[in-house]
Amino acid sequence: MFKTLENTKVFRDPLYGYIQVKHQVIADLIDTKEFQRLRRIRQLSGVSMVFHGAEHSRFSHSLGVYALAYKALSDIEILKKTLSEYEQILFMCSALLHDVGHGPYSHAFEHVFMLGHEISTTKIIEGNTEINQVLSKHHKSLAKDISSVILKMNKFKIVEQLISSQLDIDRMDYLERDAFHTGATYGRLDKDRIFRMLTIKDEKVVFKEGAIHAIENYLMSRYHMYWQVYYHPVARSYEIILEKIYKRILDLYKDSKLDDDYASYLKTIIENGFEEDAYFELDDYYVNGLIKRFSHSKDDILRDLCLSFLKRELFDYIEVNTNEEEKMSRLVYEKKLSEYHYKIDQVTQRTYLIEEFDILASSIHILKSDGSIVSLDQVSPIIKGLSTSGIKTDRKLYYRGSHE
Ligand code: ZN
Repeated sequence: MFKTLENTKVFRDPLYGYIQVKHQVIADLIDTKEFQRLRRIRQLSGVSMVFHGAEHSRFSHSLGVYALAYKALSDIEILKKTLSEYEQILFMCSALLHDVGHGPYSHAFEHVFMLGHEISTTKIIEGNTEINQVLSKHHKSLAKDISSVILKMNKFKIVEQLISSQLDIDRMDYLERDAFHTGATYGRLDKDRIFRMLTIKDEKVVFKEGAIHAIENYLMSRYHMYWQVYYHPVARSYEIILEKIYKRILDLYKDSKLDDDYASYLKTIIENGFEEDAYFELDDYYVNGLIKRFSHSKDDILRDLCLSFLKRELFDYIEVNTNEEEKMSRLVYEKKLSEYHYKIDQVTQRTYLIEEFDILASSIHILKSDGSIVSLDQVSPIIKGLSTSGIKTDRKLYYRGSHE
């Protein structure tokens, strides 16, 4: 039996009102230093350069995903009956911890330092950390099992689908939360309807036909949020400058020219990959401090990139299709751009992914009234249309224009 708190703890959330915490293990996890670190990492980094309200942290998103797990367990009868007490706790803990390994400005960070957040997440859960101590204290296999859920090892199929699939509580939370903080009008989801129509069949999370419109709306919201918010060209420009800063730091380090002690935590990560103590220090505060400091660097390239970042002198961009390589080379040549001053960036988004043989079971499954299960695109003409025509790619050349 997992211990419950004498008094329920609450967190006031701008989207959900009171988020309730009834279990000791959840309260203890929230109090760990690794989870508190998420307060210092913003959810959307570069996007805040376009939508200035997007200052919310990964802490609030992580609590939000936990809140949806808690709500699912309260609202959906069949989940309560199907999942054992242990699996319910596993579900809530996995929801809370699924992003705990994110680095500061993580997209650029992961790209340059080759350290994926899923791996860092499992290392924080299973390594020498306060989170691991809490989990081990409450149940000896909890840490390992949460990792297996995050890495989708097929051991706890229902929990895995609820945490990570084409319709999961992670996406449901970030779509609504990011829409709320950016001011976008697309992100409103009918979670109550989706949960009410959710059921379990043959270890699969399926939705009754009555959920189709609510799910269509969710997928449309996602489509709009990607193109209007997450893939906004100005936000990407900002992320690219950051990526170039990281890249310059890495190259200076390789040439033994990075002699600033302040960069020591980053050096540890470059040398050893993930390491608990150094990773704990990495947050937006640290990276912002590093950028301010390097805006006085003796290295011209690094100083210039950091100043661009601080003054919001973003890279310019033009559309470059795959058959226009020459156009790109000409511009790079004419403007004498160094490798730190341009990048081709391509983003693609599919509204709904059809798994032909459903090997990964990643389709959104609809339970028809005759008891058969079909993929969403087979019963929704809108989604069928979007799953083929809704694949959109955007390829741009970002480059340092003149700011004089
Ligand atoms: Zn997440």
